[in-house]
Amino acid sequence: METIAIIGAGASGLACMNILNQTKQYDILVLEQSLKSARKILASGNGRCNVSNKNMDISFYNTTSPLIQEIISDFDIYHFFDCLSLKLREEGDLIYPYSLSSLSVKNALLKQADGISLIEQCEVIDIKKEKQYRLITNQGVYFADKVVIATGSPASDLSGNHNLDMLKKMKVACLPFVESLVQLKTKEVYKSLKGLRVKGIAKLYDHHTFIDQKKGEILFTDYGLSGICIMQLSRYLDHVKKPVIHLDLLPDLEKKDLDHYHEDGLFHEKLAKLLQEKQLYAKNLVFHVNGTMGIKKAQVCHGGVCLDEVDESLQLKKYPGIYVCGEALDVDGDCGGYNLHFAFASGTHVAKHIIGESYVKDK
Ligand SMILES: Cc1cc2nc3c(=O)[nH]c(=O)nc-3n(C[C@H](O)[C@H](O)[C@H](O)COP(=O)(O)OP(=O)(O)OC[C@H]3O[C@@H](n4cnc5c(N)ncnc54)[C@H](O)[C@@H]3O)c2cc1C
Repeated sequence: METIAIIGAGASGLACMNILNQTKQYDILVLEQSLKSARKILASGNGRCNVSNKNMDISFYNTTSPLIQEIISDFDIYHFFDCLSLKLREEGDLIYPYSLSSLSVKNALLKQADGISLIEQCEVIDIKKEKQYRLITNQGVYFADKVVIATGSPASDLSGNHNLDMLKKMKVACLPFVESLVQLKTKEVYKSLKGLRVKGIAKLYDHHTFIDQKKGEILFTDYGLSGICIMQLSRYLDHVKKPVIHLDLLPDLEKKDLDHYHEDGLFHEKLAKLLQEKQLYAKNLVFHVNGTMGIKKAQVCHGGVCLDEVDESLQLKKYPGIYVCGEALDVDGDCGGYNLHFAFASGTHVAKHIIGESYVKDK
């Protein structure tokens, strides 16, 4: 039997493990650096785990790669979780577990792990190519015929800090991880609004040049801005020199409506008070962005293994038998289930290719 080592027991690694294990053809070893598996899954979607989106398209990702397009569109999230006996539900376009609890996603992914060696608190430090691959970890040495790198990114503090160190030592080209989907620190801070959530449009400018806009929830904080539309716009920050956010807090109304209606009938009382006191215009509230809250507060990262390094099965061209999936690859998506969808889809893609190869060998 071939031994397959999966490095990382997160969304992509556990997806890969489940598909491989259905065949009962492999010795599967899952090595996880953390005390517990699937920590990011548990934290995702505010504990509800937004696993995918009905509106699935490559335009929601940072890449135009036809391979990635194929991987995300070929993957059927309903079928995947149905095979794990987990029912899903939709809320608008967002897809969640029926329970609305991320714990049920973790449990479903780990329920059929019989016969698998899952070793926690085991960090892979180095990989050496010998007759097999030798994996050097903080818990000793393991050998495997094939290796799946499913180590995610250092976004948040839930996936470690040495996600791709072993591949960098092997001279695999990796783009540095930079936070994405993250809260923004701004020069203008309105502490009286801390915790207030409003619906509106946030527009991102590079000084005076319009970059993009998002409609949805905006959250005022004591350091600046958060909320889904702000996190979405944060994806551009690594190449915007002078980022400025303009908020329209009344996207459905015009200036004349503002003149006609009382502010305290249009806004939460805290916001109405602030607008009156500071003489601010609710259709164009300006925030100069000082920076982000940093990688440890981010939901995902840009960067990771360059797509040029992998073939169509997500196998490293330089190291046949080593595959990469999930956020460890230079693929990241918008808020709304796109990142977990890619993690499950790419983990499944790798597993199917490994199985496909061994079927060919057996014949
Ligand atoms: C707070 C938060 C909320 C989120 N909410 C959503 C959401 O609702 N919907 C959505 O689509 N996405 C969401 N995301 C993003 C999503 O969780 C990730 O994109 C996804 O989990 C990536 O899956 P992965 O398998 O690539 O990596 P991970 O799930 O991070 O798994 C990687 C695993 O590898 C382990 N590891 C790392 N390095 C090593 C090593 N050297 N040796 C051994 N093990 C190692 C890590 O400990 C980790 O367990 C959220 C992220 C955060 C932080």
